[in-house]
Amino acid sequence: LPRHRVAMIGSGAWACAAVKLIAENTANPDNVDKYVPEVRMYTYEEEVEGRWLTELINERHENIKYMPGCFLGANVVACSDLVETVKDATVLVFCAPHQFIHRMVKTLAGHVSKDAVAISLIKGMRVRPDGPQLISELIRKELGLDCSVLMGANIAADIARGELSEATIAYSVLDHALLLQDLFERPSFIITLVPDVVGAEMCGTLKNIVALAAGFVEGLGYGPNTKAAIMRQGLNEMRRFAKALYPTVRRAAAASSDDTFFESCGVADLIATCYGGRNRLVAREFVAAELAGAATTFAELEAKLLNGQKLQGVLTSDEVQAILFRRGWEKDYPLFTTVNRIVNGQLPGSSIVEYKSAALLP
Ligand code: NAD
Ligand code: 13P
Repeated sequence: LPRHRVAMIGSGAWACAAVKLIAENTANPDNVDKYVPEVRMYTYEEEVEGRWLTELINERHENIKYMPGCFLGANVVACSDLVETVKDATVLVFCAPHQFIHRMVKTLAGHVSKDAVAISLIKGMRVRPDGPQLISELIRKELGLDCSVLMGANIAADIARGELSEATIAYSVLDHALLLQDLFERPSFIITLVPDVVGAEMCGTLKNIVALAAGFVEGLGYGPNTKAAIMRQGLNEMRRFAKALYPTVRRAAAASSDDTFFESCGVADLIATCYGGRNRLVAREFVAAELAGAATTFAELEAKLLNGQKLQGVLTSDEVQAILFRRGWEKDYPLFTTVNRIVNGQLPGSSIVEYKSAALLP
């Protein structure tokens, strides 16, 4: 059988931690009949310490900007040419901030093998004039490939350090999911398969809005009770919104889609992100600045605190709110709506704890 060649599309924090898992498996001599050891990694080129980032990665086998201290594997090759990265690849792993993926997929159209298997690690969605689109749907539509998703409680830096984590691969084609599980799974990275791509991807996308709410609560100085209340309401809105937006999931797989929210991609990711994620960190600082009378913006805080890493929650909040507004659903999602009003300066951060009434204010 021909061996699989893997391409990683992205080289931020999670892309680096994930490529390390993959590269350990493809370099394993026991897998020599299954995988080509080399993993090409698309790297958005930039200058770091006066050098090109691709050169630095290929010299040191480390991405010193986005995941310093993590040995990626000598078999990971950074490549600044997207089309070159996917040449001859039979497994395409997408892991870039969701705002960039449409342009990247358009660039790839016509350059990927028709038989390739795709998987998205991206948490986010697109809102177009004709409706919402999950990233897995975008990849499927533009590249004509089946696309699974890997979602879960996966703070990148902790995985790079080898700490035990779980993840969920959600699939439409079981054979693809089994291949992908074999590719990603490590002794400290345990994967469960679920046949619910939409449910898992909606979980990964929507929890970033709840993480902003958790950050506001932290910045206001409230303790775990308040954060738990916000997370419970957030999970409830996540589940209702996913089902309202994709009612066919409910009809086609009622049991499995509710179960999805109890997998790593659901409640576990919500917990991890609300306690340890970047969205929560930046939201906390946003409210702290507001309380100190030194109001700032999310864009400023992202640049100041994240060293080039990208927040997904603020964009996702705007994208989801556009859907809620268009469908007349805002009042049914008071936490999502309150977060969006805070993010856009229409309400103060302190109103997060009044979400049941605050969302109804003009
Ligand atoms: P990141 O936020 O750490 O890094 C940003 C990346 O975007 C960098 O690689 C940068 O080079 C690249 N970039 C900047 N401008 C670009 C452009 N114009 N075009 C293309 N790329 C550009 O990235 P990440 O953490 O790997 O996030 C990717 C996805 O993974 C996101 O959807 C995120 O929600 C998800 N995710 C992240 C984590 C985490 O802990 N970091 C965990 C799970 C899932
Ligand atoms: P943040 O983008 O908020 O850091 O969340 C990371 C994540 O998705 C962990 O699973």
